[in-house]
Amino acid sequence: MAETAQPVTMDTIVSLCRRRGFVFPSSEIYGGLGSTYDYGHYGVLLKNSIRSLWLRAMVQERDDIVALDSAIILNPRVWEASGHIAGFTDPLVDCRTCKLRFRADKLEDSNCGRKPSKRPGETPDCDLTEPRQFNLMFETHVGALQDESSGAYLRPETAQGIFINFKNVAQLARRKPPFGIAQVGKSFRNEITPGNFLFRVREFEQMEMEFFVPPADATQWFEYWLEQRLGWHRSLGLRDSNLRVREHDEAERSHYSTATSDIEYLYPIGWQELEGVANRGEFDLTQHTQHSGTKLEWIDPDGNRYTPHVIEPAVSIERIFVALLCDAYHEEVVGDRERVVLRLHPRVAPVKAAILPLIPRDEGMATRARALYEELRRYHVVEHDDSGQIGRRYRRQDEIGTPWAFTVDEQTLEDETVTVRDRDSLAQERLPIGGVREWLEDALERDWSSPSSD
Ligand code: ATP
Repeated sequence: MAETAQPVTMDTIVSLCRRRGFVFPSSEIYGGLGSTYDYGHYGVLLKNSIRSLWLRAMVQERDDIVALDSAIILNPRVWEASGHIAGFTDPLVDCRTCKLRFRADKLEDSNCGRKPSKRPGETPDCDLTEPRQFNLMFETHVGALQDESSGAYLRPETAQGIFINFKNVAQLARRKPPFGIAQVGKSFRNEITPGNFLFRVREFEQMEMEFFVPPADATQWFEYWLEQRLGWHRSLGLRDSNLRVREHDEAERSHYSTATSDIEYLYPIGWQELEGVANRGEFDLTQHTQHSGTKLEWIDPDGNRYTPHVIEPAVSIERIFVALLCDAYHEEVVGDRERVVLRLHPRVAPVKAAILPLIPRDEGMATRARALYEELRRYHVVEHDDSGQIGRRYRRQDEIGTPWAFTVDEQTLEDETVTVRDRDSLAQERLPIGGVREWLEDALERDWSSPSSD
């Protein structure tokens, strides 16, 4: 097996996603809506894997974190208290020549509208305005009447829905600091320059956890969560050489944060933020206490009151989705044929196994394959495929990252065994058909690391 050494580009990932129905440009039949995407079958399955592995690590496997699902449209005073109305802005510049708008702090990642395209400001014709602050929140109206009092916002982060429920959860979930509240849900930001596929979109699914701790322990918990989150990304199979931690300096940090570090991934566009881990101090609970008049504090059994400090790991499914595909994508030559393979961690892969009758019109093979498929699909997402040459069916499964294929062939009819083909090594072995379910369970529990060189 020889690997072709081309580094993966974002265009390659976009075209794989399109070809295999992971992701489509949204509203395509109406000409699309810039940088908005719809997810097809395998995209939905991959997102489900990411979401459920996050919830498993954050909620299911811990005693100290509970789940929450707050509303997307909140009382607008929430955003006043959080500082988003005044300060959730990015600096925007207009180009008077090409009429495009750019983020002033990301000019090096943008393309000028003139040909040949350069960075905005780099061509002699570029005529950029002074930067002005642009608020990223989408505005909407609640109810039938549209006036100033009906104005509201689509949430730009899920975190505020957590802070305003601190009292409810602390009382009802019978938790005391240190404890956390985890939430997964859509967030909306009117990004000035969305792009790079799903990396920066205007509608995305955030996974945020707010961990409330006694103030004296905040630094220690910040270090703990940074380490945990890095370990989690590794556990998804992302290669170590493509992950790093970058500490924000003081100028880059939000004014309330005492420490922030980004977990960065080496995307085809360079090292970029995958997940942010921040020590938010007591800022959020204090702000909401002041603005709402409801005390968001903790009273310990000795009657001592304090405002817990908050450690926040925040990431979007989209940024993980792109990182996983970039990490997993490989083109290689096997024998005299090229194949594209997604070396996804089996627990992440959209489809866990394919069940393939070698000769679909052979009734014995067809019946056994169908029965095996119906047994396995009760426990896992598996796929039955009986169309086309067996080689083509294997290639199709390789391209969507299915780790194993069980093939029912002539020998199955004689001795009730099937072949299992391994996506990564291409090794094949025979198993009793009655033992496939248990074999698959064991295989999914096994450690896995990418066989690709770093
Ligand atoms: P950036 O500097 O890239 O704009 P940010 O620092 O504003 O990101 P946060 O507010 O810290 O991002 O959001 C937390 C996480 O949400 C990010 O680490 C990223 O995973 C994700 N995220 C933020 N904005 C977007 C977006 N427009 N599209 C996809 N994911 C996003």
